[in-house]
Amino acid sequence: MNIGIVGLGLIGGSIGLDLRSRGFNILGVSSRQQTCDRAQARGVVNEASIHLSLMAAADVVFICTPLGSIEPIVRELVPYLSPDTIVTDVGSVKTPIVQAVSPLWPNFVGGHPMAGTAESGIEAAVPDLFVGRLYVVTPTAQTPTLAVDKVEEIARLLGAKVYRCEPIEHDRAVAWISHLPLMASATLVAACDREGDRDIVNLAQHLASSGFRDTSRVGGGNPELGVMVAKYNREELLRSLSIYRDSLDEFITDIEAQNWQALEHKLKLTQQARQNYKL
Ligand code: NAP
Repeated sequence: MNIGIVGLGLIGGSIGLDLRSRGFNILGVSSRQQTCDRAQARGVVNEASIHLSLMAAADVVFICTPLGSIEPIVRELVPYLSPDTIVTDVGSVKTPIVQAVSPLWPNFVGGHPMAGTAESGIEAAVPDLFVGRLYVVTPTAQTPTLAVDKVEEIARLLGAKVYRCEPIEHDRAVAWISHLPLMASATLVAACDREGDRDIVNLAQHLASSGFRDTSRVGGGNPELGVMVAKYNREELLRSLSIYRDSLDEFITDIEAQNWQALEHKLKLTQQARQNYKL
């Protein structure tokens, strides 16, 4: 089977590495020739090009570009595809993508592998990125069953566990566990940087250890991805941020009032609540 991948970066490159090692013929398209050359040199693809016409031979096409270019790419891609070709994407937000792309290509299946690193680009591609991770698939009532089954079969070949849900459910849930943490983590680093005493900043940077590494990690990743999830999941992100701000205010109130009992109660509840997340 020929697998097409458009966007040879962290996610597209990692899919290519794994599927190629499982015997698929991988056709890759990326915007820069040097990325195509590196993808070939790294064994991510069998063939690569900067022209979407290469996708004409693909049976399944994964769109792995930034969120903002998924719809324009599908528009450009359609004239090259045969009616049976399955198109799927890996975008971190689903509702606007599924709404925009499904009318362009009926054989489209929205997807989102829940895996990543803080790195980006072809050099960031790694084998086995999806092993043991969830791969969310968001078909609509109109999505052909054959197309959904094929995408899920490939996700399982990547070692992922498939989860099906509605695009809107996906976006609301990832606002809580992915997009809010990204913003909370980024604002944490920004707040530290607002300390006016440079000696204290230098000391803090020197003392920073595992706690700071864990809490700052997702805020220190690819800025383009952060802007894209805010733009595409704006409503759900704002909803979660506003509830987060209320929680922060409640903690501030307890500390100002030296209400250590209330603070301890809240921290006990968060300690218990955290255990419900499948980390
Ligand atoms: P990335 O590392 O920046 O890779 C995207 C690649 O797409 C770039 O390296 C770029 O390659 C290429 N590209 C950009 N515009 C293009 C275009 N118009 N046509 C063809 N190629 C183009 O980003 P990523 O982290 O893999 O994210 C890709 C998608 O996966 C996004 O939609 C994101 O929401 C989703 N996602 C990301 C994560 C994560 O943690 N990073 C996790 C799950 C899903 P060139 O070098 O050729 O410009």
